[in-house]
Amino acid sequence: MITTNFHTHTVFCDGKSTPEEMVLAAIEKNFTDLGFSSHSVMYIKSSFAMKAENEKPYIEEILRLKEKYKNEINVLCGIELDIFSHKPEFSYDYTIGAVHYVLKDGMYLAVDKSAEDTKASVDKYYGGDYDAFAEDYFELVSNIVEQTNADIIGHIDLVSKFDEVLKIERGERYYKASEKCVENLIKYNIPFEINTGAMSRGYRTTPYPDERILKMIKDYGGKIAISADCHSKEGLDFGFEEAENLAKKCGFKEYAIIKNNKIEYINF
Ligand SMILES: [Zn+2]
Ligand SMILES: [Zn+2]
Repeated sequence: MITTNFHTHTVFCDGKSTPEEMVLAAIEKNFTDLGFSSHSVMYIKSSFAMKAENEKPYIEEILRLKEKYKNEINVLCGIELDIFSHKPEFSYDYTIGAVHYVLKDGMYLAVDKSAEDTKASVDKYYGGDYDAFAEDYFELVSNIVEQTNADIIGHIDLVSKFDEVLKIERGERYYKASEKCVENLIKYNIPFEINTGAMSRGYRTTPYPDERILKMIKDYGGKIAISADCHSKEGLDFGFEEAENLAKKCGFKEYAIIKNNKIEYINF
């Protein structure tokens, strides 16, 4: 059973629960580790990013909880850093690198805002070609570690968030672009996240990445972490059983956790 989660959002960005509510829920679930990963401050208009004035209070609150609950749970203060983010002003226990926008014709197009928004963007800027949108997305993700110095690669195929809702079937162009991305990222030797966030919010019935991409990661010798990407205390371990089963099915025997500010791997 997985009793860790390092991808957690709160009211400091676009989450619904306070950090303390999250910590208490995690203790209730017998978690050993809970890492917070607020969306970093961005230089483009964003509906989910942390506001600059909230960054210091966020860190202070997590540090307060780290101390208050140190005998019950290991609390970490991380950040989910986008390529369109400001460099963080503070230091964090760890960084999840992730892409949430594609820059096209001078416009920052949200990748995961809503199905309607994605459809409108692809229709207007890509003539309805979802794979072309995905190709631009994966090209940005290919540079995520260089640009964010990430410890974990977040939801590598976020671009497929609304595929089920929009009834999009992915073909060879899509998998070619994702494979190129995996190939580029493998050299950093950091874990790729299996992320259940879109499942808990009802957009997907399976975790990110899809099975084919996950197998690709395995074939290239990649490693994984398992994350809830939760935005409320109810989602802390949502879909973890499915994620674990999917990981095992694809041949993974271990998953990443963070101990003493370093990635470690533990067996399922
Ligand atoms: Zn994200
Ligand atoms: Zn997230």
